[in-house]
Amino acid sequence: MTPNLLVLGGTTEASALCRRLAEAEITAQLSLAGRVERPKRQPLPVRIGGFGGVDGLVRTLQDEGITHVIDATHPFAAQMSRNAIAACARAQVPLLALTRPAWKAEPGDQWQHVPDIAGAVAALDRAPTRVLLAVGRMHLADFAPNPQHHYVLRLVDPPEAPLPLPDRTVIVDRGPFSLENDRALMLDHGIGIVVSKNAGGTGASAKILAARALGLPVIMIDRPSIPTRPEVHDVEAAMTWLGAHGVDLGV
Ligand code: NAP
Repeated sequence: MTPNLLVLGGTTEASALCRRLAEAEITAQLSLAGRVERPKRQPLPVRIGGFGGVDGLVRTLQDEGITHVIDATHPFAAQMSRNAIAACARAQVPLLALTRPAWKAEPGDQWQHVPDIAGAVAALDRAPTRVLLAVGRMHLADFAPNPQHHYVLRLVDPPEAPLPLPDRTVIVDRGPFSLENDRALMLDHGIGIVVSKNAGGTGASAKILAARALGLPVIMIDRPSIPTRPEVHDVEAAMTWLGAHGVDLGV
């Protein structure tokens, strides 16, 4: 079979997989949601923007003769992941998820688990403090009900719309971040609490390690649930799965 892969990306893991596929000269394209203004350069063709729901993704799979889909989206991009499950089942295209294990609290961590962004907003209904809000720019407006805090916002791109948070500092930086830098940032800004999605993996973990080192509380937004699908946590395991699904890995 001549493979023609679709990688659903937007993560460090998707970029690593693309590098590996390019090295192995396996035909593949990377799909991005288009959430950042200047996506990283990739060694594979890139398409940007939604497919048009499950129906649109089924059409793309069929029209482009996609043979395999690897869903390496962000763990909070649950709609895309659910759509991929439904579309691949309908088009009978094998699907693998390449995901990162969720972060786990360690003894001494002060994590308050909340199920979603609304839960994080409710958890901030408290006396004024200084909040490191690391949830991505899509969700900033949701925090408007708690204008009493000073928010330190770290974003990949500058905010698109005027921010409804009157007291804030915006830091535009796409990382990678280190424990030392994030520890210094939290000390410099007098951070009292960190709000984070449970993204998992190492790419975004510095803030969690820094909060741990400084004994700071974390409002941890738990991951949305996604139906079970074949899932691996590293690129080589994804390559093994491709080999088991008819792709010649050339080794
Ligand atoms: P989502 O809610 O799962 O997706 C919404 C729609 O965006 C999908 O139905 C799809 O549109 C399109 N989409 C998402 N990922 C795509 C991809 N890789 N290629 C093509 N289209 C894609 O995801 P989201 O709206 O991007 O974000 C949800 C949460 O994940 C947010 O909390 C966000 O901060 C976080 N997050 C996302 C990314 C990312 O790269 N997407 C990165 C970091 C964090 P159609 O239905 O039209 O196909």
